[in-house]
Amino acid sequence: MSTTVIIGAGQAGNDIATSLRSLKYEGRIVLIGDEPFAPYRRPPLSKAYLSGDIPEDKLYIKPRDAYPKHDIELRTGCQVTAIDREAHTVTLSDGESLGYDKLALATGGHARRIPLDGADKPNVHYIRTLDDIRRLKEQFGAGKRLVIIGGGYIGLEAAAVGIKQSLDVTLVEAMPRLLARVAGPELSSYYEKAHRAHGVDIRLGAGVTALEGGDTVETVVLQDGTRLPADIVIVGIGLIPNTELAEAAGIACDNGVLVDLYTQTSDPDIVAAGDCTNHDNGFLGRRVRLESVPNASEQARVAAATICGQRTPYAAVPWFWSDQYDLKLQIVGLSQGFDDVVIRGSMDENSFAAFYLRDGVLIAVDAVNRPRDFMVGKKLVAAKMRPDKAVLADESVELKTLLP
Ligand SMILES: Cc1cc2nc3c(=O)[nH]c(=O)nc-3n(C[C@H](O)[C@H](O)[C@H](O)COP(=O)(O)OP(=O)(O)OC[C@H]3O[C@@H](n4cnc5c(N)ncnc54)[C@H](O)[C@@H]3O)c2cc1C
Repeated sequence: MSTTVIIGAGQAGNDIATSLRSLKYEGRIVLIGDEPFAPYRRPPLSKAYLSGDIPEDKLYIKPRDAYPKHDIELRTGCQVTAIDREAHTVTLSDGESLGYDKLALATGGHARRIPLDGADKPNVHYIRTLDDIRRLKEQFGAGKRLVIIGGGYIGLEAAAVGIKQSLDVTLVEAMPRLLARVAGPELSSYYEKAHRAHGVDIRLGAGVTALEGGDTVETVVLQDGTRLPADIVIVGIGLIPNTELAEAAGIACDNGVLVDLYTQTSDPDIVAAGDCTNHDNGFLGRRVRLESVPNASEQARVAAATICGQRTPYAAVPWFWSDQYDLKLQIVGLSQGFDDVVIRGSMDENSFAAFYLRDGVLIAVDAVNRPRDFMVGKKLVAAKMRPDKAVLADESVELKTLLP
């Protein structure tokens, strides 16, 4: 009987295991995760779970007993410490050596650390794991002064929860605008306005130079000398893909584990999926590293097919979402490189879609509280349409009339 070992019991690892069984893979499947939990969803960590709107048991992708039911051996609290590609074995943290025929890397990533003294104090938090949020929730409380370093989606979602829970929130971003790495300027200024209106003190173009205090950080010091008092500090400055294991085993990596359209790594018996990969994307026609659940799930399906000897290229259109206050943002495509943008609806009324075009081709849509525009936008982006800009902007004309 053949054995597939999956390293990393997150979204991608879970979905590889599940897809293998859906594809009638009859071999042994061992799913190994170093966190003490069964696979869980990370998106609610900075949203409904942090705010207390959902309990912890709602985070789990499926009940723990679903794994043995599908003959998937789930080992949690167990780290893979080495891969021996020649011997086709992995070494586990408890010293056990496990043989594999096929290996899947689904190791995700870890929060980028802020390289300052004081960053290891107990009131400095990162937002990546359930343990991180359990610790953070213990310190959250009305009136506390929360300083968030980083104006990306995770920082903004944490700010929204902080405001909802009556904390005094300051958000510091080194770039001149929020969401600078991931969104167009229109969306950046829209979210800046929304957060300011809710009471977040936003400091843009502000690098942090020191974290000062005693047993805890008490002051966040900015480049211009500003001193921000803090009871809690959250650092949300990006993700580093977990590639150490792959690199040590001689698997090609460059800002992620390099995989082709079929999630194949430089080793023919090893696939990789999810946040840890830098992958060839058939839709974009280039390499990209994405951090999203849809990407992890879709790549996992491709990886399972590859393990089963089927050739299904990965060509999914990237999409994401973010919830802040009562603003439900859905994004399809990647807007980087756009040369034109059309707004449909009203930013003032918190109901709009921004359509990004490059050379007349629709490359991305950001939709706020517009699920229908998002659904149609997804099809338009996937079809690489050249939509009539007047129709995009004109709410009296149904968007779906633009579909082929
Ligand atoms: C707070 C937060 C909010 C988010 N919100 C959204 C959102 O709204 N929408 C969206 O689309 N995406 C969102 N994301 C991103 C999304 O959660 C990730 O893209 C997704 O979880 C990636 O899944 P993954 O399986 O690749 O990686 P992970 O979920 O990181 O899982 C990898 C697992 O592998 C484990 N591991 C690593 N190395 C080893 C080893 N050597 N041995 C054993 N185990 C190992 C890790 O500890 C981890 O448990 C959010 C992420 C966070 C943190």
